[in-house]
Amino acid sequence: MFEALGNRLTGVFDKLRRRGALTDADVQEALREVRVALLEADVALPVVKDLVTRVRERAVGQEVIRSVSPAQQVIKIVNDALVEALGGGEGDDGKRGLDLNAPSPVPILMVGLQGSGKTTTSGKIALRLRTRDRKKVLLASLDVHRPAAQLQLQTLADQAEVTGLPIIAGQTPRQIAERAMDVGRRELYDVVILDTAGRLAIDEALMAEVAEVKAFVKPHETLLVVDAMTGQDAVNTAKAFQEKVGVTGIVMTRVDGDARGGAALSMRAVTGAPIKLLGAGEKLDALEDFHPDRIANRILGMGDIVSLVERAAETIDQAEAEKLAKKMQKGSFDLEDYASQLKQINKMGSLSGILGMLPGVGKIKSQIENANLDQTMLKRQAAIISSMTPKERRNPDLLKASRKRRIAAGSGTTVQDVNRLLKQFDEMSAMMKRMNKLGQKGLMRGGLG
Ligand code: GDP
Repeated sequence: MFEALGNRLTGVFDKLRRRGALTDADVQEALREVRVALLEADVALPVVKDLVTRVRERAVGQEVIRSVSPAQQVIKIVNDALVEALGGGEGDDGKRGLDLNAPSPVPILMVGLQGSGKTTTSGKIALRLRTRDRKKVLLASLDVHRPAAQLQLQTLADQAEVTGLPIIAGQTPRQIAERAMDVGRRELYDVVILDTAGRLAIDEALMAEVAEVKAFVKPHETLLVVDAMTGQDAVNTAKAFQEKVGVTGIVMTRVDGDARGGAALSMRAVTGAPIKLLGAGEKLDALEDFHPDRIANRILGMGDIVSLVERAAETIDQAEAEKLAKKMQKGSFDLEDYASQLKQINKMGSLSGILGMLPGVGKIKSQIENANLDQTMLKRQAAIISSMTPKERRNPDLLKASRKRRIAAGSGTTVQDVNRLLKQFDEMSAMMKRMNKLGQKGLMRGGLG
């Protein structure tokens, strides 16, 4: 999410940085470009106007121009305005993340259009609550219009290793909700997630059905699931649901496929409801918390090191990681280490998702994606490395033409594949050296200077 906007803004700020001392005109020009970039990212016009006005008020004038690093100052101001637009202003803290602070079983109602990812998200939330928060979760589908939807939720419940409410044909959504809450109380569940039926578009019947269930269950959270890829339509959908049903939070799905991110930036201002979670993939573990400050950092190309480290902490073998880190610092990182790193990356999930969190990688990310560095690529590279002798892995310079041919044959690849791997290894070593330096300067702590 936000790659396109991030690239545009990075361009604007690169230009500012080259200037040194800024005039009012420089700042105005940069703001014009920020405005265009936001509009191209499909951010709603009133939100763009408001954001640019806010930045202008703070940026234009003596303060910025006289400051030691005027460009950094402007970036900081834009950063703060983005955080505010994303809902990170003061007093918002308590509304972020799921609120489970209620007597058990806590009912969570999932609403949204068909195809938005509602059912998948119900499964994702169930998995997270069971594994991370150690909750006992019951999943129930209220979709009586599509029997397949009830079966789909049961499949997801199985995958997430939580209980699905047994399906009884012929019950109304309200009857199912009643039964789910009864079971929830009797069998001491912590959370009951109710997945309602979706429609292809907003219609009265859908709203009436959702409203009836909501009035009966009195959910503690009513989460609206919207597809980020639908841009402004997602914002309009959210507005309609907010007016007719009332929601406590928004989950944006498919942010993995949405390069523009305009919907996320408009959502808070247009609907007043906070974005609570992001869906970033089809797999059940592809669910992220929404942190306005981290997202703003991602947009401005400063990376989301905090999320990256959190994700890493969940998946990576700590001892192994420390060993690698030491080697990196000593500059003795070899292909053996590269292979073990590939294995770790593979465990962390989608590579492009990870790259998006690294500072300054936004720009090269698309190049890497074009080079097709995906899971299959990772596996192929692992195969190539395992066809090398230990000596070759420790000293890649040994790899001349005949050895490359042998390795290609041994791993079922081509000499070009071997060359590509070696090039990538070189680039990665170089990037690590750079990150090492950055880390030492303290920039990785997210400081804006
Ligand atoms: P529902 O009709 O709203 O319940 O939608 P589903 O949960 O059935 O999801 C529709 C499709 O979107 C499925 O193929 C899901 O795998 C996919 N999907 C859901 N969430 C995400 C996401 O965050 N990223 C991606 N790429 N696909 C998703």
